[in-house]
Amino acid sequence: MKPPAPRECHPCTACCEGWLKIDVEAARAYLGSPCAHCENGGCNDYANRPVHPCRTFVCAWRGDDSALPDWLRPDNCKAIVMFDRLTWRGQPAIVAVAAGARIPQRTLNWLKQYAQETQRPLLGEEYEKIDGAFTGKKRIVTHGPPDFMQEMAERFRRGENLW
Ligand code: SF4
Ligand code: SF4
Repeated sequence: MKPPAPRECHPCTACCEGWLKIDVEAARAYLGSPCAHCENGGCNDYANRPVHPCRTFVCAWRGDDSALPDWLRPDNCKAIVMFDRLTWRGQPAIVAVAAGARIPQRTLNWLKQYAQETQRPLLGEEYEKIDGAFTGKKRIVTHGPPDFMQEMAERFRRGENLW
């Protein structure tokens, strides 16, 4: 059987738009400030993009044999999902970062269901927005064992990076 064609990012550019902080010499992106190379629906210097984080970034939607359905492409579902960023008590966790202020309910519901089916904890990160402006503060959404949810909430309160 012919293997499925790899997924194409276009027109998604979510991982370069600043929802994920990127802070290396060749590429910088912050909330509200996309990478300077991100234009026309892609990277204008793709051949020279830095190894870290650009080449090593593993987008769960784009990955080979991704379990994520087509509609969960990050620009569409408004969340960037990663499977390789966090382990909790030896278990790989699902990390989802909002590509916008909130992870939409439909996306969150799918991720929670998937987390349940695969017995993985889920950590979502969202951005506080007041009167149409991002405040720079985050909030988290968790799903999974109560110990996981409590630990993430405590670490978040302490201001730790969670993944
Ligand atoms: S978030 Fe995923 S699908 Fe979107 S541009 Fe990045 S790698 Fe491609
Ligand atoms: S250098 Fe290219 S791939 Fe890397 S963050 Fe910027 S636009 Fe994205």
